[in-house]
Amino acid sequence: MNNGVLFIISAPSGCGKTSLVKALIKKVENLCVSISHTTRQPRSGEIQGKNYFFVSKDEFNKMKSSNNFIESTQVFDNNYGSSKQSVQDLLNSGFDVILEIDWRGFRQIKQTFSHSVGIFILPPSKVALEERLTNRGQDNKGIINRRMHDAVSEMQHFNEFNYLVINDNFDVALNNLSTIVHAERLTLAQQSNKYQNLLKTLI
Ligand code: 5GP
Repeated sequence: MNNGVLFIISAPSGCGKTSLVKALIKKVENLCVSISHTTRQPRSGEIQGKNYFFVSKDEFNKMKSSNNFIESTQVFDNNYGSSKQSVQDLLNSGFDVILEIDWRGFRQIKQTFSHSVGIFILPPSKVALEERLTNRGQDNKGIINRRMHDAVSEMQHFNEFNYLVINDNFDVALNNLSTIVHAERLTLAQQSNKYQNLLKTLI
């Protein structure tokens, strides 16, 4: 593995995480997202290979037993996993990589990538979160209630992460994320690796 930064961005559904990440990779150079595999059905507008690799339970289980995931989890009735090969390829091509995964995934990733950087996104209020889940219009009331309930238990894990961003104003949250990425690129570990040759000549 090269020394690119692996960012884990987590948030309960409805916090604007996917839109923020999309805008973030447009705004910041050399940054990309690793696409997860899932057994969930595509929502309207979601594209195979762009939002997720949508696979059958059988395919997912085969990948899992062949040790193809760096982490995997079950959310609601669906399985999700991050492909080891895809993350490795992106890091090796010189990108910093974002995984949009849940807190369980972050816990697993930390065992292999102890320097990965966790960012948790929270909504400005419960009311705002419920409004966002309802306005999305993609799920029925039962699913929205279930997601609200799950969001509350998911949010309890915010303190396992390194950074906390509140998505009240989209542009402010986006700037916060971009600042975090730039700050992480300037840590001693990253800079001394990047500038090894310069440091040899200076010190
Ligand atoms: P959704 O079905 O709304 O796209 O995602 C549901 C949850 O699964 C979100 O919290 C999302 O971050 C998480 N998720 C998506 N892909 C992965 C993955 O590859 N691994 C893990 N651990 N969680 C994921």
